[in-house]
Amino acid sequence: MRTTAVREPGGTSYRITGQKIWTSLAHEADWCFVLARTEPGSRRHHGLSFLLVPMDQPGRIEVRPIRQMTGTSDFNEVFFDGAHARVEHVVGGEGGGWRVAMSLLGFERGVSTLAQQIGFAEELGQVVRAALASGAVADPVVRERLVRQWAELRTMRWNALRTLGGSADPGASSVAKLLWSGWHQRLGELAMQVRGAAAGVGPADWSDSAPYELDAMQHLFLFSRADTIYGGSDQIQRTIIAERALGLPREPKG
Ligand SMILES: Cc1cc2nc3c(=O)[nH]c(=O)nc-3n(C[C@H](O)[C@H](O)[C@H](O)COP(=O)(O)OP(=O)(O)OC[C@H]3O[C@@H](n4cnc5c(N)ncnc54)[C@H](O)[C@@H]3O)c2cc1C
Repeated sequence: MRTTAVREPGGTSYRITGQKIWTSLAHEADWCFVLARTEPGSRRHHGLSFLLVPMDQPGRIEVRPIRQMTGTSDFNEVFFDGAHARVEHVVGGEGGGWRVAMSLLGFERGVSTLAQQIGFAEELGQVVRAALASGAVADPVVRERLVRQWAELRTMRWNALRTLGGSADPGASSVAKLLWSGWHQRLGELAMQVRGAAAGVGPADWSDSAPYELDAMQHLFLFSRADTIYGGSDQIQRTIIAERALGLPREPKG
């Protein structure tokens, strides 16, 4: 955490200097939140603050899109060169940034995915219809995988409902994230399997001139590669569950 926010003389605003990579939709956002070091010399998760920052600051905020393998750019690298944030736009008080960020991540990994699951059910329906259309459903292995996806979606729903209203279990949102990220990735793989050779992009799209014309299932497959990374990678979720929920020995710090 090297991005800093320094109080300006007069004390009504901060000046932010640093950079932030992988910021989803920064190119469309009017505001973003920035976790910045407000206590000089502080280390690790201490001395951080959670600042709401208006994006319309030409010359002080630069947004550089990152091209993805889908051919589109949904996320960006953002550079802050003396960007301003108002003091009253600190969430959770100065120095309280880590606590706010962890609550936010807990929400992203757990409760927020309740709504996402409506989309998951729709995507599963599309894959089932594609399996019926291609005849792949005649394969007992494909049928078993489809049924497994359906059953796991039900499990996810009940698990996510447990996290509503805040769970006392410190690992609950990490468990939820592990369930949906792997599930969604497997659904993308299954979508490609049921379509067989027709799953690839067409010859007209083989040039370097991305963005390719992707249909919903191709997009599902390619984007779902990121599911086990964003919001905190699967490996990190397992460490959180091991250390905070199961009380196993802490990971050695390098
Ligand atoms: C599509 C997408 C959208 C994103 N949107 C945003 C956004 O809007 N805002 C934002 O702030 N971030 C965003 N991110 C960033 C995301 O949160 C990080 O990419 C993610 O937390 C992983 O961190 P990293 O990229 O630094 O990987 P690294 O920490 O470099 O990890 C690389 C690999 O090493 C493993 N690893 C690292 N440390 C350990 C450890 N201690 N033990 C075991 N394994 C370990 C990881 O699990 C991973 O497999 C986005 C990422 C993606 C892919």
